[in-house]
Amino acid sequence: MATIAFIGLGNMGNPMAANLVKAGHSVQGFDLITENLETAASNGVTVMASAEAAVKDAAVIITMLPAGKHVLSVYADIAPKAARGALFIDSSTIDVESARKAHAIAGENNLLSIDAPVSGGVGGAEAGTLTFMAGGSADAFAKASPILEPMAGRVVHCGEGGAGQAAKICNNMILGISMIGVSEAFVLAEKLGLSHQALFDVASTSSGQCWSLTSYCPVPGPVPASPANRDYRPGFAAGLMLKDLRLAQEAAQGAGAVTPLGAEATQLYALFNAMGHEGTDFSGIVNFLRGKESG
Ligand code: NAD
Repeated sequence: MATIAFIGLGNMGNPMAANLVKAGHSVQGFDLITENLETAASNGVTVMASAEAAVKDAAVIITMLPAGKHVLSVYADIAPKAARGALFIDSSTIDVESARKAHAIAGENNLLSIDAPVSGGVGGAEAGTLTFMAGGSADAFAKASPILEPMAGRVVHCGEGGAGQAAKICNNMILGISMIGVSEAFVLAEKLGLSHQALFDVASTSSGQCWSLTSYCPVPGPVPASPANRDYRPGFAAGLMLKDLRLAQEAAQGAGAVTPLGAEATQLYALFNAMGHEGTDFSGIVNFLRGKESG
């Protein structure tokens, strides 16, 4: 069992750290928010006074922070203080360029590192069933895999440093576009007098089948566990979807990739967010497409 520093104990970080404790690891945590530290302590995490203190004697350092600037600032502070041979795992969703810079900071300090963003949301973090998309060397990945295991349903090695973040934003671009496509189909079905259930029964076993339809249906009824059945409480908030779509657009511009549907999805989610729906589940976009804000 390892001593693990966990920095960033928010909605995702706290349940992830709790699963590491349950697996028998000794977890030293730090966050800027007192309430999050209290939750961590109640889960068996040893609360530390600073990120630098959390890193002391840790064999593995996991970060779960909001954005690239937070990750780079924390890496710059703690990498020089980390134990020899320590492994850095960043599970935040951040831009590919910052992910590569984070790897460079670790490398300059002779430390192994992987970017390992996740899919599965708070529910997956609590259940220990997250999908991790990892980027980094084969050595770093081999060392990270058993550490990720108690938090993971699946761990995929996507390639060198930054490849995990690349996989994450490509996946979420598909998700944003497909949710809008499925929502448009339900809105059209309503206008054509076709019931939600009839469209679901056909499309879920036809060529329109996709995760946004069969696991996360944006209208109430056909998939009882989807947020549509609880007034679009997240789930995965529209604010986070917009963040990921913007990261995909930045990456597409930097790489010269043509992503017209990704660009359109970004604009639609920006409008939905601007109407005050950052905290609404992203499948609530169906109401925006109907010309209704809620309900
Ligand atoms: P969150 O805002 O709940 O947690 C982030 C935490 O980082 C906060 O508690 C904040 O206080 C802490 N923090 C910020 N700067 C810090 C610093 N310098 N030192 C220590 N702590 C610091 O966000 P979250 O929902 O837990 O998401 C974390 C990351 O995971 C984001 O990059 C997000 O995009 C990604 N993600 C979230 C979800 C989800 O469903 N919530 C799903 C997949 C990926």
